[in-house]
This record gives sequence, structure tokens and C-alpha cells, in this order.
Amino acid sequence: MPWEDVLKQVRETIDELAPQVEITSIDLEGPLVVVYTRDMEFFADHPEVIKKVAQTVRRRIFIRPDPSLLMDESTAKDEILKLVPEEAGIKDIYFEPETGEVVIEAEAPGIVIGKDGQLLNEIKKKVKWAPRVVRAPPLESRIVKEMREYLKLVREERREILRNIGKRINRPPLSGEQWVRVEALGGYREVGRSSTLIMTRTSKVLVDCGLNVAAPDKGDPWSGAPYLYVPEVWDPSDAEKPFKHLDAVVITHAHLDHVGLAPLLFKYGYDGPVYMTAPTRDLAAMLLIDYVKVAQSEGKKVPYESKHIKEMIKHTITLKYGETTDIAPDIRLTFHNAGHILGSAVSHFHIGEGLYNIVITGDIKFERSWLFNAAHNRFPRVETVIIESTYGGREDFQPSRREAAERLKEIVMRTYEKGGKILIPVFAVGRSQEVMLVLESFMRKGELPEIPIYLDGMIWEATTIHAAYPEYLNKDLRELIFQKKENPFLSPIFHRVESSERREEVISSSDPLIVLSTSGMMNGGPVLEYFKHWADDPRNTLIFVGYQAVGTLGRKIQNGLKEVLMSLAGKPITIKVEMNIETIDGFSGHSDRRQLIQYIASMNPKPERVITCHGEENKCIDLAIGLHRRYGMETMALKNLEVVRLR
Ligand SMILES: [Zn+2]
Ligand SMILES: [Zn+2]
Repeated sequence: MPWEDVLKQVRETIDELAPQVEITSIDLEGPLVVVYTRDMEFFADHPEVIKKVAQTVRRRIFIRPDPSLLMDESTAKDEILKLVPEEAGIKDIYFEPETGEVVIEAEAPGIVIGKDGQLLNEIKKKVKWAPRVVRAPPLESRIVKEMREYLKLVREERREILRNIGKRINRPPLSGEQWVRVEALGGYREVGRSSTLIMTRTSKVLVDCGLNVAAPDKGDPWSGAPYLYVPEVWDPSDAEKPFKHLDAVVITHAHLDHVGLAPLLFKYGYDGPVYMTAPTRDLAAMLLIDYVKVAQSEGKKVPYESKHIKEMIKHTITLKYGETTDIAPDIRLTFHNAGHILGSAVSHFHIGEGLYNIVITGDIKFERSWLFNAAHNRFPRVETVIIESTYGGREDFQPSRREAAERLKEIVMRTYEKGGKILIPVFAVGRSQEVMLVLESFMRKGELPEIPIYLDGMIWEATTIHAAYPEYLNKDLRELIFQKKENPFLSPIFHRVESSERREEVISSSDPLIVLSTSGMMNGGPVLEYFKHWADDPRNTLIFVGYQAVGTLGRKIQNGLKEVLMSLAGKPITIKVEMNIETIDGFSGHSDRRQLIQYIASMNPKPERVITCHGEENKCIDLAIGLHRRYGMETMALKNLEVVRLR
């Protein structure tokens, strides 16, 4: 129903069920309908009213206090600081007008709450905001703080953006024959520029908009981009807003092969929503800004600027796992844990009223890791699954996490005894935190000598973002990082490399040491500096713990490349690779073949059709064949630009 009717119906239903409450306004906020009231208590006491309204209009309804009730933010902050005793160790106070809450981050939440919640009540009476007390994260994240400040800065602008998004979502779906299609726009039979278009009669949703960072730089700013210029995505008749037919963009996780080109949409006038989890938003902002910075400093062409990254953040709507949201007139989205990196999501799309269901896995780990639970595979309904195939090949069996850890220990020990240094190229997000946890635990238990570990690139920042979102981590790690004494990330064995001077020192140090550095596939970043200086010494070791894409330097070295042409102080030099090269497989954030098959086999309910993607050609084909042989289901290894009608 048109949005005016939705709002009208919400008001009428509330008037009917609770004529005595005062509603000051009703507004659209992206997928939500927000009701402002002076009677928050009434709704708190009668949750059934909102439930009924939500059922009637089939929308998510949010109740918020009328802004005039709330104390001005800076006065409220002062009042809270006056009321709460110092021992509470307040670290931060910030306001969330979306919920009418004030969040108080404290070292001792119990003190802020007070006996029987007394102090909390007092705070509420005074400032009128609803206080929510959380334990201060054990690591402070610059990115999370900056994100909060930025969102505050653009709050008004965002309101308008969200209202327009809401209007669009609430347009009536087209009538007539209903169908569902998907189109492979990138990352099919390859890894690197993931993008899938879901099309129905009414709507178009783009899932992921990745960039292949390993694509050869041919001076074309679009090299490595998905096929976004196909007519169903790009409208050539509208030079200002060629992407205007897209209803929504959904991002499964923060890796550049999934989000790297999303800011480009905003360069070309896209003004719709981008859905992702909150940690994905923060990690993506960090990685994208870093990508632009590094690429520019290396003289590479970047297809967009940092202002387009900001534009994307302004249009981002965050969803939690398990929260179902309308993202188009006939499409509902629910995210679930994918186990791959912080905030990574398996995306479930419900189309029409029971018409069809698609699951796009994004990258998944179907095994509990040191950081996360195994990927989720229970859904109310699912007909088609689009699954990653990074390790879907016939031979792709990986050792367990435990075996991988043992191997790492053994290699570190061997290098240490030779007096060599260890270089581990890692993605800032995911593998680096796991490797940190494993090394720290061996050293704490005395199974490895205490060798200093240097973190270069965005690794430390990424680690702090993990601590800011404990609800996304598995229970064991959550408990560990909140126990101050045992918090592995705070161990003194970790050292941050924050300047190039510091890096020089580490490079020329003669002590045994371990360096974790980006980029994970050695196609840029500080890892190359260490490599240049350490490669010719056979006592040193280079350890690969993550996937190395075709075309990257990492892959070439892994395959035995003995000489690398690089530049040192602006002059070309040939680096001889004499250092020991090792690959440890079990650390991957991707499922191996067994886990991928198990993910589908144990999926509930069983899907009718599986489409493979995100793997080299033979892997995508192998996985499709394997699943078909074993379970008789229809499988396809689509090629980029192919379209399938699902219904
Ligand atoms: Zn990934
Ligand atoms: Zn990926």
C-alpha cells in the first residue's frame, strides 16, 4: 500500500486500540514506521498494541519519545556525570535519538545501575532519556567513535534520506504474473568482484558490489569492477542517476571483494539504502578509506573518492542478525551469522507473500572458530542457495583449526631456533585476529618463547572494532576479552607499528620477531616493505595463512616464484626469494569442501537448487557436480552475466 496509507492506517489502528494516548507524529524511517509519543510508559506497559499495529500494516513499528520531552544532550551528559559516582569509571556517554536512549559506557556498570536500579531511575527522571548501561569495551576503537560522531553530524540529512527510502519501499508492488530472476554480475567462476542482482517484477536488489583488487591495473578505473553497466542495472538514458532502478544494495561483509566498489554507486547518483550489519559498516569504512589512501599513494587509479565512502555510510541501514526487514515492496531481508569475519552475514531474501526464498551465503565458515560460531543454516523456507566455493574443489580439504595451530607453532619454533624473522601477510580483518589469539595462547602457556609480535597496517584498528561488538563473537572469546587480566588482545607481546620510522626499526632489528602485516595477498601495503628486506635471508620465514587470489604477488610466491621485481627508494630492484615459504591452510575464514557440502546437506529446510560462485572456475564446477551427485538437487555454476529464472 502507498506510504500515505500506511501512515494513516497506523494512526487509525492506534486510535482505535488506545484512544487515550497522545501521538505527536508518525514518520517513515527507511524500512521502519516510527511513532512519536508523549506516552512512552503506555507502550512499555502494553506491547500488544504495537504488535497488533505491526500485524495490521505488516511493517516494523518503532515507538519513540517525542523529542521535546528529552533533555538537551550536553546538559543531560553533565547531569549524568553529576549523578554517577566516580568509581563507576564512566568511559563514554552518547545519545541514540533513534531509540530515545542514552548509552553509558562504564567500567563498573553495577554502580551506574545502583541498588535495585535506583540510580538508573534517578537518571531517567532527570534527563528523560532512557539510560542503557554497558560495560566499557576493553579496547578503545577510534573508528567506532568517529563513526558515531559522523552519524551525529549527518543526523538531519539522514532523516530525509531515510524518509525517501521509506516512501520507495512502501510503493505498491506491480500486479500481474510474478517471477524471480538472479543475474551473476561478478565473482562467478572467479574470486574478487562479487555481485549478484535479484530481480522481481517489481524490484531490483544488488547483493554485494565487490572489487577485484588483484585485477591488472590497465589504467581503466573500472578494471576489477562487476558488470554494473548492464542495462538492467545502469540506465544510460539518465546520466545523473544511472542506478536509479536499484531498490537496495545489500553487503554481506566488509572485505573489498564484496564492498570495494559500493561507493562507486554514490558517485553516479545512487541515493538508495545499503543494508549491512553495524560491524560491517565500521570495518568497511576503515578498509575502504585505507584502500583509497594506499592506492593513491601507490599512484593507482581509484574509481571513486573518500567523499563517496561517506555518502555510502550516510545511506547505510544496519540490521542485526535475525532481524527481518522490508527492503523493497516485495522483498524482505534477514541476516544471519556467517562465521567468516566480524559482522559477516548469510542473507535470506523472502520474496512476495510466500512466493520464493533465496539464501546468499556470502563467504562462510561452517565450523566454530576462535572468533565466531559456525555459519547459520536454518531458515523458515529456502528454495535457492547461492553459495561460495573458494575451497569447493575436489581436493580442497583443510586441516582442523587445532592442526593448523600446531603447524604454526612448529614453524615459528623452527624459525626462532635458526635466528630468523617471521612475516605473516594477513587481511586486517579476520585471520589476523585468529593468528594473534593462537600465538598469544601458545606463549601464555609457555609452549612458545615470548617473541614480540608486531602488528602493521590496519590490524590493530580492526581488532578494537571486534571488542566494540562483543555480541558478534563466540561466547568463549567474549568472556575472555572482558576479563581484564586475561584479555589476549591486551597482551604485552603485541606491539603496534604506527609510523614508518617504527617500521624501519622493526625491519632492521636483529632480534627474533614476528610481523603480521597487510595486505593479505601481498598486492600492496606495508607487508611489501618487510618482504623486500627479509626475502633474501634463508633463516627467515614467510607464512601464508589466508587465500591467495590468482594474479596476486602472494599467489606467485606461494607457487614458487624465485625473483620479484620491486622498487626500493624509487629504483627498480630484483628481490631474490631465499626465505622459507610456508602455507598453513586451516586458518581460513572459508569453509573447505567438506564443510560447504555439510552446510548444504544439513540445511533446514533442504533447498531445491544450489548456485555456486566465489571460487576459481574448476572449484565452482566441482562443488556444483559434487552436490548434484550426492543429493540430486539442481546445481549450477553460473558464469558472469548469466541470468537464471528461479520462479
Ligand atoms: Zn570475505
Ligand atoms: Zn570474498
